[in-house]
Amino acid sequence: MCGIIGILGQHEVSPQLVEALKRLEYRGYDSAGVATVDDAGRLDRRRAVGKLVNLSDRLVHEPLTGHAGIGHTRWATHGAATEVNAHPHRRGPVAVVHNGIIENFRELRDEVIALGLQPESQTDTETVALLTAWHMAQGLDAAEAARATLARLHGAFALAFLFEGEPDLMIAARKGSPLAVGHGEGEMFLGSDAIALAPFTDRITYLEDGDHAIIRRSGAEIFNAEGRPANREIQQIDVGATQIDKGGYRHFMAKEIAEQPVVLGDALNHYIKGIASSCPMRWIFATWTG
Ligand code: GLU
Repeated sequence: MCGIIGILGQHEVSPQLVEALKRLEYRGYDSAGVATVDDAGRLDRRRAVGKLVNLSDRLVHEPLTGHAGIGHTRWATHGAATEVNAHPHRRGPVAVVHNGIIENFRELRDEVIALGLQPESQTDTETVALLTAWHMAQGLDAAEAARATLARLHGAFALAFLFEGEPDLMIAARKGSPLAVGHGEGEMFLGSDAIALAPFTDRITYLEDGDHAIIRRSGAEIFNAEGRPANREIQQIDVGATQIDKGGYRHFMAKEIAEQPVVLGDALNHYIKGIASSCPMRWIFATWTG
């Protein structure tokens, strides 16, 4: 399960997307890509296998302009680590990035093939783009088409959609995989974790399971699993710099092992309120594992 970033910004987003994806590198990945919508509404994408530097090289030679974009680091579950299978997946006016697995993708894939659409990749993700594009071709607008598609998906996923002709729209959905909306000043962000959003904002709304969000620069409308408007708290988060680099360790894995007492302690502190201040769990775990 890898990384998602989305930006409706005030600046050129492709360098910002790549920068944010770098902060998600610690999760591991085999390929990466970005899609943007430029101010004239044109949707385009670039993808590359391997390290993020391959994607940034590609963007130097084939730049993408636009103030709206989504980006992804992929860890393949369906289909090899190739450029064709890398995200964003695009069909017609729709680009999609996805973390997780669409369990019923074979059934959906057969359906879209029967509708006359031919998948290009071996991924489960592409069926989401195909189905959404098909709904739009039937006359649904972007939000209606995304909702109609989401209603068909089984599995554990986080999804971000971007649309041709919609430079002020991003749609996000969460079921099983984490996804957070970041609130800026006239800008909005989306990230598979707060670490990716840290350079942009510290005001974050975590989507709950089954939620989807219609995001514009003016704000996010969040809907629950029943499709009803949902009030989700905006949290002020504190992502310290140590959490987003290797903190002096040679590998992220070594850092994660060394941080276990702190992470376990913080997690328990969250649940054992009251005891927390007098008996910090961090200290207990550090002493225990020490
Ligand atoms: N299942 C998707 C794929 O294989 C997404 C994998 C991921 O979470 O990166 O393309």
